[in-house]
Formats: sequence, C-alpha cells, structure tokens
Amino acid sequence: MRKRLSDTVEDYLKMIYKLSADTERVGTGQIAEALEVSPASVTDMFQRLANENPPLLDYIKHQGVKLTNEGRKIALEILRHHRLLELFLHEVLGYSWDQVHAEADRLEHVISEKFEERVAVVLGDPQRGLHGEPIPNRNLEMPDHPTSYLHDMRPEQRGVIHSVSDDDPGFLRFLKTQGLVPGAEFSVVDFSPYDNNLRLQVNGQDQEIVLGASVTAQLKVEIKNAS
Ligand SMILES: [Zn+2]
Repeated sequence: MRKRLSDTVEDYLKMIYKLSADTERVGTGQIAEALEVSPASVTDMFQRLANENPPLLDYIKHQGVKLTNEGRKIALEILRHHRLLELFLHEVLGYSWDQVHAEADRLEHVISEKFEERVAVVLGDPQRGLHGEPIPNRNLEMPDHPTSYLHDMRPEQRGVIHSVSDDDPGFLRFLKTQGLVPGAEFSVVDFSPYDNNLRLQVNGQDQEIVLGASVTAQLKVEIKNAS
C-alpha cells in the first residue's frame, strides 16, 4: 500500500523524474520554472523531501537533487497512473488526444492500486501511452525507449515518431494536423544551421513541412538509419 502524499509532493517527484532524463542532478531553477513556483519554495520542498523517512530526495545545496529509490518508485507509480489514465480516457471514454492530459493530471493522484490494475487489464496491459510514452510496468520498471530527439536529426536520415510531449493541447492539435503522431514515418530533407529548422517529408502527407527547434526538441524519435 502506497503512503498517501500530497498532490504537490507527487508532482515534484514526477517532474524531477522527467527532468532527470537529461541530467544527473536537477536544480532549483529548473523545477521552479517547470512547476511555475518560486525558487524559495522549491528549496523548502527539496529540504522537506530529503528529510522524509525514508528520504525521497538526495539534496546537495547549490547542486540540486536526485531521486532516492523510494522517490523514484513514487514518481514511476504516478507516471504509470497518468499514462494508463490517458489511454483509458481516450479508448474507453472517447476523449481526444489533446483533452486527456489535464484530466489525468488530476486523477493520477487519487486512483487506488485496484483501480489502476483494472484499467491496465481492460487496456490489455499496454507498454506505450496515448502520446507514445513508455508506461512503467507493474513492478515499476520503465520499458526501453529511444532517447533521441528529432532536433538531433539531419538530412537523409529517416525516422519514426516515438512520442511527443503531452501537456499542451494546442501543440497536440498542431502535431495531428501535420501527421506527426507516434508511429509516423518521415525523412529529413533539409536542415538550416542558422535557425535550426528542419524540413521533413512525413509519409502520407502531400507537402513537406518545416519545423523549428521549439517543436523538434519535443519529439522523441527512433532513427531508422544513420547514412
Ligand atoms: Zn499527460
């Protein structure tokens, strides 16, 4: 049975987990920006979570935090809830792919382990979420997933969209109109080093599209060849 933590604490742990993908320690400023709170309240929370028993964070002043095993388990549990709920809302309740995130952000904190399990069974134990993200399994292990971004690809490379960031409904609607959904295959036609724009041909789309770095940095891809 999971210890009941506040929604705020769970949101911190989830965000620290997400930001840890790119860095060893996550800093106060990164979390303050991501959660839209003051740096002072982030520092307070870091201290508080590092003093829990067992500690949820490993905190070094001026260097930031790392999740402990305990903190990481909670983050993965919440992510599992979130991603299962998004799929459930879409597949069973008919929500569109840009509507599920806000609802899942609320529900992820309150569902029981029994509810989670029934959702997983109804969905056939999915390994990927609605936006392509890997879903941690029952033992809270994250399935393998690519770590490359479209941003890093160059002309003549081919790839498949793996997953997209899920928290901005307008962005998700834009991606859908461009055919940039998980599983979509594409090739990179051109790269402009001055503004980091990429020109893509997406399979099944009539016209090539040009995407800026603010978009390409949010799309995870599987690179098909590296010619
Ligand atoms: Zn989401």
